[in-house]
Amino acid sequence: MISIVDENPRQEIEDAIYSGDPHKLLRISGMLHGHYCPFSALGVKAGARAMRELGIRKATGMEEVVAIVETNSCFSDGVQIVTGCTFGNNSLIYRDYGKTAFTLAKRSGEGLRISVKPDCVQERAPEAANLFRKVIVERQGTEEDQARLMELWVDISFKMLDVPDEYVFFIKRINVEVPSYGRIFDSVKCSVCGENIMEPRARIRRGEPICLPCSESEYYQLTGDGMSIITPRMK
Ligand SMILES: [Zn+2]
Ligand SMILES: [Zn+2]
Repeated sequence: MISIVDENPRQEIEDAIYSGDPHKLLRISGMLHGHYCPFSALGVKAGARAMRELGIRKATGMEEVVAIVETNSCFSDGVQIVTGCTFGNNSLIYRDYGKTAFTLAKRSGEGLRISVKPDCVQERAPEAANLFRKVIVERQGTEEDQARLMELWVDISFKMLDVPDEYVFFIKRINVEVPSYGRIFDSVKCSVCGENIMEPRARIRRGEPICLPCSESEYYQLTGDGMSIITPRMK
């Protein structure tokens, strides 16, 4: 029996990547993403292609490899689960371009950028795409439309996985300037609320550290609309 210390927690995912089992990967991605949809399927597919093409194993989470995602949509959840590059392990970089695309890069700068071809879901599943517009975007669908959409949506998600990559992706080898390793900062204690703050986020008021919300300072926020600067007093 191998000890838990030597265990690779991502073994099952890596096995599915290298044995070519994208259906299993999409099922696992559903645990994170909460539903099956064509764009998370495309993220899974793109992630697996990039991992295989760059020959990456067990390196993720240690910042030996980084993923640069260009959208905060379903696609990026597929990328995260398959590459293991996440928000929390500092190997996910978010560029707010609003493109369904991502780059996987090694520390050496060797990288692969994959972007989703326009209309690839619309072309393969016109009924589903039209229903999506009606039910989700315009909120005009009947209950029947909604049930039908759910059915079609799951079906197209799994079908997407079996389409040859070149039909749905633009794939390009690129050289990437990989940012330096995330630094580990000291913590300081906010003089107002008493909570710890990563040092570069602290402000100084009357010679004492204070956190951003207590000092009502500007901060960055990422929402479904993308990244923005919030100025509390101007709310
Ligand atoms: Zn989704
Ligand atoms: Zn505070």
